Amino acid sequence: MTSVRADRLARVQSRMDELGVDVLLLSLGADLPWLTGYEAMPLERLTMLVVPRGGSATLVVPRLEAPRVEEDDDVFGMRPWSEGDDPVQIVAALAGLGGATEEVAVSDRTWATFVLQLQSTMPAAYWRPASQVTGPLRAVKDADEIEALVAASAAADRVAAQLLAGDIPLVGRRERDVSLDIGRRLLAEGHQKVNFAIVGSGPNSASPHHEPGSRTIQPGEPVVCDFGGTMDHYCSDITRTVWTGEPSVEQRNLYLVLQEAQAEGVAGAVVGATCEQVDEAARRVITDAGFGESFIHRTGHGIGIEEHEDPYIVDGNQVQLVAGHAFSVEPGIYLSGRFGARIEDIVIAAAEGPMSLNHVSHELTVVEA
Ligand code: ZN
Ligand code: ZN
Ligand code: ZN
Repeated sequence: MTSVRADRLARVQSRMDELGVDVLLLSLGADLPWLTGYEAMPLERLTMLVVPRGGSATLVVPRLEAPRVEEDDDVFGMRPWSEGDDPVQIVAALAGLGGATEEVAVSDRTWATFVLQLQSTMPAAYWRPASQVTGPLRAVKDADEIEALVAASAAADRVAAQLLAGDIPLVGRRERDVSLDIGRRLLAEGHQKVNFAIVGSGPNSASPHHEPGSRTIQPGEPVVCDFGGTMDHYCSDITRTVWTGEPSVEQRNLYLVLQEAQAEGVAGAVVGATCEQVDEAARRVITDAGFGESFIHRTGHGIGIEEHEDPYIVDGNQVQLVAGHAFSVEPGIYLSGRFGARIEDIVIAAAEGPMSLNHVSHELTVVEA
């Protein structure tokens, strides 16, 4: 029986074959932990997994970082380097660089300083971002990853449930303080890290990525709360909009449109549909209601080790959903300078149909706090 990571490496190898990539070089970013369980520190010292096509993988790692690596003989060997060694030369030798025709894929987030040094060791090679190899593979989650995403979403759900129940005080508090409160709750529910906690109240609810600030939340206004963290390497991400008092008729109508759009987006997320069709399913509802100009972002993004990754649920993306694709469905309607709302859940495309990982109510909720 092969391990989950050995299986991932096998899929990487066959995709390298398909694309004609001779060597894959992984440094900073999510590809490395996905394959090895080890996350490289963003240091001036080079960490790089060298994966030659058809050959075995080697992790070139600073000797002082090596104790943090959990070795996995099925997947990679170790090549620690000491102060005074030249890690670029070590990588070049392992990669068999130096010939004229190599095709090299390198982590999208490798420091430029190392890429430039590596390029000078092999001036004739063709370079491409590693995401061309790994992106489509990482986008389709295996059973272990789905389990991790389910757990992270459940933890975020518990915080969202507290929000809807009025357990997180809003009125009279500054957005920034509510944001910190939500972050503490994400940690209390099992996340190791808070990635973001957007709190946009009143007119700020019309700014999708509002930076929570010193505005004090007033009675009778919408509050968009969009938050997520990392739990056992995988991310959560959820948005709920709540009201601190009875909404106006206009606000209520807008929210009903949004609710329907989000539901249509989820319903459209079936295996075989293209990403742009999912975007279109949500967008059509909003456009038909006359708010098309006010839905100013894509419908969603893939999620996994990274908060945002393939597949992007956006017009023009013709990637077809397969079982295991995990992504957000998060339409929003924003009336600039006035108010806005967004609803976001994480969804996995499954053979039995779209599987939402968030289960907290979408009903318009007035919180008594
Ligand atoms: Zn966003
Ligand atoms: Zn979000
Ligand atoms: Zn999101």
